[in-house]
Amino acid sequence: YKKIRLQKYLADCGVASRRKAEELILQGRISVNGTVVTELGTKVDYNDIVCFDGKRLKRKEDKVYILLNKPVGYVTTVKDQFQRPTVIDLVDVPERIFPVGRLDYDTSGLLILTNDGSLTYRLTHPKFKIKKVYRAVIKGIPSKEKIEKFEKGIEIEDYVTAPAKLKIIKSFKNTSTVEITIYEGKNRQVRKMCKNIGHPVLELKRVGFGHLSLGDLPEGKWRKLNKNEISKLL
Ligand code: URA
Repeated sequence: YKKIRLQKYLADCGVASRRKAEELILQGRISVNGTVVTELGTKVDYNDIVCFDGKRLKRKEDKVYILLNKPVGYVTTVKDQFQRPTVIDLVDVPERIFPVGRLDYDTSGLLILTNDGSLTYRLTHPKFKIKKVYRAVIKGIPSKEKIEKFEKGIEIEDYVTAPAKLKIIKSFKNTSTVEITIYEGKNRQVRKMCKNIGHPVLELKRVGFGHLSLGDLPEGKWRKLNKNEISKLL
């Protein structure tokens, strides 16, 4: 760890401005490894135990990036007004994380959670056109014309969807499993698009987000993204 001046360390921890931190040091309210320090030139690093009025200071929270396989029956908010279980209940980390975008209560699959606000912005703002891939079970078997509609744009309420893709994986009796790719993320968009072409969604799961895919992560389980995955996202 790099050593830094104690007043900068205090400021980094959010205790006070550097100027105010100098005052705290001179007042004898700061200790390092159990000894009160009143010298302004003292240097410390993150291995040192720094206390303010006897209370240990914590360094700022590290950024965490989590991939969750959301089960059906969880809301994608931090707290729910109807006390339903939330995706936050499924992830056990000390940091205060929040979901990147939304999945419906009745949708499962890939969800990113993080405490990195600027990443959240870049992954959710429509101008960045992040690719999202869904596996859906839909009613009926869509014709070529219906599939073309997905590519051309579908009118939903007050907007027309951007070019999207629908690929049939398999059809059985009167249902089809399809893969749907969109680059937007309007409220219940996939469900509305499918309903609009006459093939309502019976089951919906997100399997891809940007370059990330769900892989074989079991439902309800989560993992931290690795360095390589994070650097591709940032
Ligand atoms: N589209 C939907 O309709 N629902 C989701 O949860 C995600 C995309």
